[in-house]
Amino acid sequence: MKKLFTLILIIFLGQASNAFDVVYPRKNIVTINSPSTFFIGSSNPKDMLLVNGEKVKVHSSGGFAHVVVLDEGENKFVLQCGDELKTFIINRPKKVTGGVYVPPKLIEYEHKKEFLTSIENAPLRSTPVDVGINRMSHFEKDIPLTIDAELSNFYRVVLGEDKKAWIAKTNVKAFEGSLNSPAVVSGCDRADNDEYFKFIFHLDKKTPYEITEGETFTLKFYNVKDCPDNTYIFNFPYKENSGTQKLAGYSGNYDGNDFVLKIRKFPVTAKNKPLENIKIAVDAGHGGSEAGAIGCCGDKEKDITLSIAKYLEHELKKRGAKVVMTRSDDSFVGLRERVDIANENESMFLISIHGNSLPDSANPNEHQGTSIYFYYNQAKSLAANVLLTMTKQLGTQNDNIRQGSLALVRNTNALSILIEVAYLINPEDNSMLIDHHFQKRCAKAIADGIESFLRN
Ligand SMILES: [Zn+2]
Repeated sequence: MKKLFTLILIIFLGQASNAFDVVYPRKNIVTINSPSTFFIGSSNPKDMLLVNGEKVKVHSSGGFAHVVVLDEGENKFVLQCGDELKTFIINRPKKVTGGVYVPPKLIEYEHKKEFLTSIENAPLRSTPVDVGINRMSHFEKDIPLTIDAELSNFYRVVLGEDKKAWIAKTNVKAFEGSLNSPAVVSGCDRADNDEYFKFIFHLDKKTPYEITEGETFTLKFYNVKDCPDNTYIFNFPYKENSGTQKLAGYSGNYDGNDFVLKIRKFPVTAKNKPLENIKIAVDAGHGGSEAGAIGCCGDKEKDITLSIAKYLEHELKKRGAKVVMTRSDDSFVGLRERVDIANENESMFLISIHGNSLPDSANPNEHQGTSIYFYYNQAKSLAANVLLTMTKQLGTQNDNIRQGSLALVRNTNALSILIEVAYLINPEDNSMLIDHHFQKRCAKAIADGIESFLRN
């Protein structure tokens, strides 16, 4: 019965993809501020498709992607397939000339000011701009900060004699009083268990901190009494790619005035069943009101990601892993909520599934393949292992691993990666993405990649 249903579905989808349909641009009259854009859609591959008289290549699945150049002002495009016509008006705004750019000015204060973080997960940044890779820490609410200057939307935070950082003005509130006398670190207790190394630092008050993964794993407390440059430094010995101690996720937060640092022990796994009892969070990108990208044949990213995520759940459970899903149906789940689900489950891995798309200025016919994002160094080798098994087993192009500041890979306690399986708006990639057989193989390749990371 299920097979019959699938067969009917395939026939139905097959027919649907033969109908002449444009999925991007999403409306017939749009404004696009780019020197070029593209038409994404599907038509019957047997019919000739023309855009302003120019012949368009249609993939055997029916999908097409066609780049057009945009002049400033109004651009008219007529798409013709058989005797069906579709007209699009794309407005490209004219460049505004004149006006002088005035760079924001640094205002240094005569007297330092005292502030408290006013939200949870307030990012501390190394530069006064809202970009991803400059995040140094994510602070809880009520962390005291000394501020000595401001620039545009940011305050400058004093961490030491020469050490400064930046925080968004909207993430802090002024504090009347003298919070920022140096903190005292009076000691550190160990409370290891089978799963974690656990360190409890005793402080007399909260103070800014930073955790870095470089040559060593380092926790620093700033504005601390009786330490060189007011900085208390704790190094945890580990070595990437050696048997000593590989990072497998960690967390660090205040519990009252104590700071609790938990570093997951790299699991000793059975060679033949490396995933046994490993906790994994699987995240199907988008969902509910948020469809994500739309593929050439009209398929929504949220449905493709959910389908692959479910195959992955099945594959991982089969291999003995303990899986938590951030969503199991077509519902909307916030980004922070997804990370919380993984953290609460104490997942060692967080695997987020997506399909890729491109900005207007790119050419969808020139971008193909699998790419994997990580944020923390500790997840880089996982990303590389999974990319290798995916490209090998699926035959997708290697579109590289990349460090990227995406909500699902940063501020997580797990080893987190975000997989762009393939491009929804590339006709060839799209024809694979919508194929359930490919989705199943994709789940297997991801599971194999995680296993190879654990084995190496
Ligand atoms: Zn996505």
